[in-house]
Amino acid sequence: GVLVAGSANLDFVVRAPHVPALGETVLGHGFATFPGGKGANQAVACARAGGAATRMLLALGEDAHAAPVEASLRAAGVALEAVRVREQPTGAAFVCLADDAENAITVAPGANALLRPEHLPPLDGASHLLMQLEVPLDSVAAWARAARAAGVAVALNAAPARALPPRLLADCDLLLVNQGELAVLSGVEGVAAGMAMLDAPALVVTLGARGCCARVDGEWLLQPAFAVRAVDTTGAGDTFCGTLVAALARGLPFAQGLRRAAAASALACTRLGAQAGVPAQAEVERLLAA
Ligand code: ADP
Repeated sequence: GVLVAGSANLDFVVRAPHVPALGETVLGHGFATFPGGKGANQAVACARAGGAATRMLLALGEDAHAAPVEASLRAAGVALEAVRVREQPTGAAFVCLADDAENAITVAPGANALLRPEHLPPLDGASHLLMQLEVPLDSVAAWARAARAAGVAVALNAAPARALPPRLLADCDLLLVNQGELAVLSGVEGVAAGMAMLDAPALVVTLGARGCCARVDGEWLLQPAFAVRAVDTTGAGDTFCGTLVAALARGLPFAQGLRRAAAASALACTRLGAQAGVPAQAEVERLLAA
């Protein structure tokens, strides 16, 4: 099974003709809230992919925003290891979604910032630990270390972009980044140059509508994107990460995992909302067979 340890937010999404410039106010059209947060999005994608029992360690405030966040995870079949905090509200993200599918996002971490190393639940039954960087870095590093010691494969989506301590990188079996994250993490521009700076056993770089490229135990894999009409790319990367790790946890070869992840993330681009946009397993199968 997969344990996801990370962030859960409620996303406040407004559609607008364009993302506001500095100091600008834009009149939007259409507002909705969606459960989000990279951790929760990836947990939902992992559970919907099927074949791998999915649990999630998350922190929630004692407020009205916690309920829809929990409900979305439960509906997808994610088992919750929820830490309740009084001191902070449930995490929230404020998303401006432009008509050309570009976005600008501000995150208020709230309860997510209070996840501590000691909150990691027992790893029994877990083959993979999947993490992101929307919770404190020292907790991520401690969880990676604990998983490594327990023989659990460590997958890290190094998002949002930041440099990482070498010790945390050394504890990762699988590193997942987009192009921007690769540049920040490696300190160099260019996909090939950036990948050459990182020596994770498995490294996946997603390239938006151009698909992804991976280096797995020294072997190179390329997976083109599936052609779709994108309306909301929020959560494409999260759907990709959750789907890939679910495939690996059920024992599929890496190349097959990449193909499933590409199909699921392409479908996610055709729908509004990070978790709401994650496709069901049957839809992914249809696209794979087409
Ligand atoms: P992030 O959302 O983290 O920035 P990317 O933009 O690289 O990550 O997208 C992640 C994956 O989602 C890509 O590798 C691709 O498979 C899929 N994807 C993203 N944008 C599109 C698109 N416009 N059409 C089809 N697939 C897409």
